[in-house]
Amino acid sequence: MTVSSSLSVAKNGRVLIAGATGFIGRFVAEASLAAGQPTYVLVRPGPLHPSKADTVKSFKDKGAIILHGLISDKTLMEEMLREHEIEIVISAVGGATILDQITLVDAIAAVGTVKRFLPSEFGHDVDRADPVEPGLTMYLEKRRVRRSVEKSGVPYTYICCNSIASWPYFDNTHPSEVLPPLDRFQIYGDGTVKAYFVDGTDIGKFTMKTVDDIRAINKNVHFRPPSNLYDINGLASLWEKKIGRTLPRVTVTEDHLLALAAENRIPESIVASFTHDIFIKGCQVNFAVEGPRDVEVGTLYPGDSFRTLDECFNDFLLKLKDNLELLQEEEDQKVSTESTVVESRAVTATCA
Ligand code: NDP
Repeated sequence: MTVSSSLSVAKNGRVLIAGATGFIGRFVAEASLAAGQPTYVLVRPGPLHPSKADTVKSFKDKGAIILHGLISDKTLMEEMLREHEIEIVISAVGGATILDQITLVDAIAAVGTVKRFLPSEFGHDVDRADPVEPGLTMYLEKRRVRRSVEKSGVPYTYICCNSIASWPYFDNTHPSEVLPPLDRFQIYGDGTVKAYFVDGTDIGKFTMKTVDDIRAINKNVHFRPPSNLYDINGLASLWEKKIGRTLPRVTVTEDHLLALAAENRIPESIVASFTHDIFIKGCQVNFAVEGPRDVEVGTLYPGDSFRTLDECFNDFLLKLKDNLELLQEEEDQKVSTESTVVESRAVTATCA
């Protein structure tokens, strides 16, 4: 195996992104294009869902070069990396295909010209976090990918971006695609365990900053913006402030989350086990970023701010404007019907 001798990546090195049509990958590809990196997007062969076809078209319109293939096809990946002189490979493949990345690592190592590999992490530090099953199986797979990368000698960066900014539903893989609640809050445990909530665009933006940053080589890059550290009670209060109403709070106990995880329904049980790890065990905040392989993204780029959770919730509020107006109309109507009934009863009473 030959590994590139120089660790430094040229500014504007060619980037290949696998999984760009996925939830997290889209943010990364958008950021790569916005940063002016020559961006190659690997799309799985075969017919695409119309929404994914639109995504691919928008990448193309912004200058991306679309390639077709699977990361599990070592020969093809080697050919692609050589032909297009790829310097940076970013993978954002989903939970079911995490282990396919081992073949990708083999291809990268065989070619020997890739200067940075970012495997599909985009969550917790999987060597530290220890969720119950079935989340643990995913982390064991991510750990296996980490070990294969480290053994290969290919320079890497592990992006530990914590939670995406959203209401953290315990049964939804992509919570930011669902708007925060208007009926009631489900509060995990006593609601006091904190977590970091990062906007998807910032996950993309800061990921792209690390790819040619020598300080991020062979490091876990932790995303811990202080403005986005909330417990779930605080998250609920912030949302109540936005919508101008108070919602009931229902407790989801630790036992309930563990029972959901034990049902082993995929992907819901995986999300329940991560919810337990975050909001009961505190896996995002129960360690300090101080090891030789750890670096906090804010210390790397102190001049760059994150979108605050407050701003992200404003976006959700805009999307829910119509629903809120409808809700208000229904409530006003209910109040006016009730007052009519009270008035007519009063009249009857006077007549009697
Ligand atoms: P998705 O399932 O949304 O997308 C996966 C992407 O990978 C798709 O583009 C898919 O293509 C592509 N893909 C899958 N297999 C292959 C393959 N063999 N070759 C090439 N492309 C492939 O994934 P997510 O965005 O949910 O997950 C990505 C990462 O982000 C994971 O590591 C996950 O754990 C993490 N994550 C973090 C979250 C957070 O809050 N921090 C939230 C959600 C995920 P196609 O479009 O054809 O299916």
